[in-house]
Amino acid sequence: MSVLPVDSLSTPRFVGLPSFMRLPLATSLAGLDAAIIGLPSDSGAPYRTGARFGPNALRAMSVMLRPINPSRGNINVFEVLKVADAGDANVVPGYEIESLALMERSVATLVDAGVIPCAIGGDHSVSLAALRAVAHRHGPVGLIHFDSHTDTWDSYFDGKRYSAGTMFRRAVEEGLIDPSRSIQIGLRGSLFQPTDVSQSEDLGYRVITCDEMFDLGLREVARLVAERAGRGPSYASFDLDFVDPAFAPGVQTPECGGPSAREALALVRMIRGVTLVGFDVVELNPLYDGPGQITALLGATILAEFLALIAETRLQATTSPQNKP
Ligand code: MN
Ligand code: MN
Repeated sequence: MSVLPVDSLSTPRFVGLPSFMRLPLATSLAGLDAAIIGLPSDSGAPYRTGARFGPNALRAMSVMLRPINPSRGNINVFEVLKVADAGDANVVPGYEIESLALMERSVATLVDAGVIPCAIGGDHSVSLAALRAVAHRHGPVGLIHFDSHTDTWDSYFDGKRYSAGTMFRRAVEEGLIDPSRSIQIGLRGSLFQPTDVSQSEDLGYRVITCDEMFDLGLREVARLVAERAGRGPSYASFDLDFVDPAFAPGVQTPECGGPSAREALALVRMIRGVTLVGFDVVELNPLYDGPGQITALLGATILAEFLALIAETRLQATTSPQNKP
């Protein structure tokens, strides 16, 4: 099976089915290193629903992206990694717990075949489904979490424990992540309680607020991320509301005063040497996106950057030290 994207120099971008980056659709998982999987559930959304439309909106804008990544030494991601688009998990609209179970099963199909899941949300609660599948194979993983919210509240709405605001408390309780290797970056905005940030630290997370991020500088934050995650298996989760709503309006719960698209991309591009066994880009809500689909384009770009990070780490592991960039 060919695992190269359609060449946009030969076939215009608007021709054909919009798989992620014009990659082939997965007909088999054999031989794949990574696969795109849509997790189109917004049944965990406390506020703006519509992230169920996120995966296909992100795919539609991803036709803009080219295979070579200049920020990691002109690496051609698809010469290093065999990647295909595995379509979407099934869900039951309005039924959060049932949808989590279905999505976990779909991600587990990839993980159990040795394929790295590259997930597109969906509201942020879909990360719990992906983490359950990933941890089942790899054990507790380090979590690298970009978000303007901690998502470590205990429950919403009369004790409901599963939502886009609670999954990173559930993930610790379920032993899916190792808090001592986990970090949350970008927290900002108004709070429910004064303890909204310290509740994450009490669970064992390292927290870098948005203000601290800019005080430290992006390069230092990237270094701290790599130091915290170490060489063990890690999982990255990127909530698009990490980015300022001027650059990413199409999200569930926007927070003013975040990094620009340029700053967010710069941070991701500076993270090196971590071993991602899965990642997600979540909370794309195309119903609130701008007419140019700028949030979808940014989400697609972030996803491609995580793929390039995986390719770079893979390449460094397989080349001799003198060949390292
Ligand atoms: Mn958020
Ligand atoms: Mn979130």
